Amino acid sequence: MGNLKITGVKTILTAPGGIDLAVVKVETNQPGLYGLGCATFTQRIHAVKTAIDDYMAPFLIGKDPARIEDIWQSACVSGYWRSGPIMNNALSGVDMALWDIKGKVAGLPVYELLGGQCRDGIPLYCHTDGSDEFEVEDNIRARMEEGYQYVRCQMGMYGGAGTDDLKLIATQLARAKNIQPKRSPRSSTPGIYFDPDAYVRSVPRLFEHLRDKLGFGIEFIHDVHERVTPIAAIQLAKTLEQYQLFYLEDPVAPENIDWLKMLRQQSSTPISMGELFTNVNDWRTLITHNLIDYIRCHVSTIGGITPAKKLATLSEIHGVRTAWHGPGDISPVGVAANLHLDMSLTNFGIQEYTPMNDALREVFTGCPDIERGYAYLNDRPGLGIDIDEKKAAQYPCIGGIPSWTLARTPDGTASRP
Ligand code: MG
Repeated sequence: MGNLKITGVKTILTAPGGIDLAVVKVETNQPGLYGLGCATFTQRIHAVKTAIDDYMAPFLIGKDPARIEDIWQSACVSGYWRSGPIMNNALSGVDMALWDIKGKVAGLPVYELLGGQCRDGIPLYCHTDGSDEFEVEDNIRARMEEGYQYVRCQMGMYGGAGTDDLKLIATQLARAKNIQPKRSPRSSTPGIYFDPDAYVRSVPRLFEHLRDKLGFGIEFIHDVHERVTPIAAIQLAKTLEQYQLFYLEDPVAPENIDWLKMLRQQSSTPISMGELFTNVNDWRTLITHNLIDYIRCHVSTIGGITPAKKLATLSEIHGVRTAWHGPGDISPVGVAANLHLDMSLTNFGIQEYTPMNDALREVFTGCPDIERGYAYLNDRPGLGIDIDEKKAAQYPCIGGIPSWTLARTPDGTASRP
């Protein structure tokens, strides 16, 4: 790209959907040419902003934005200690923005640069929840009416939040009616309470009901959110086999991945793993030893499009497919990055999608079209998405400590959220 240089790196914080988002804008010496990337780590948003403003920006200014791989590699080690969700999100914001710039310079959508179109539309899954199996069934029927052919089914969110004698911090979490948690002691530490034993017994009941009422013509996903012991996860995977899930997500915590070998020997329930991983190498053994079926990956937390493409290629060679994380806490720029990867990867598996509200679609222009359970990208160069900074400023970032992560088991022991 000749004399093109990076002249500015800016972090834009905004919360049009009520969730803090971080977007990086990389500016160049060519008037009007800039790129956008997602750097959203909602729970530590100001730490990411500092990493970008104080460390990434001075590192990048004056560099050639065409050198994506070189910038990724050198920025990754420039602090000597590397990786982790804060630095990787900062790096992702820059990486996606550089791909956006490269696409704009080439006059091509990013998926064309990644290998070109592999499919006509991108199949999505959406979330369903409910306080009991009947409410979950009703919610699935509503999503099926909208055209979704894949749904994530939870009951009481991640396992029936709350016990009878404790107040929920996050009232938005559904309390499961038919998950009977154990009693708590006479006094209690504040937190979101759940009973892993009662939860794990409730899940087969849910899927028995759903297959009975809805048949096998729809794909079901369930997220364990690493909330149970490894042996309970193995029991669950075995019991759920008969209900033919599309996949069971994060059955064990990152610290317990050695248990996946035993799980694999005992169950053919497809497994998706890695939402909390922060380094592409965390998946290596799981992929090469055939221990998982889907890479569950938060693209900005591993450092952006550049490492995600490499991880997807390793997965393809071993028969593993993709399932990029798509919650409300990634920006529409991050959603676009997911979809450009999805469009260009032959081993695409499924894409999680969280509906965007009107404010998000007003702040971010060029958001994908969603129709009958499929996403469609526009054909603009780069990632095809832009941000209206004035409108973004109308939705200030909230910051603070999240409450939903303060999970506890019935006796008050701190637990994984
Ligand atoms: Mg998950």
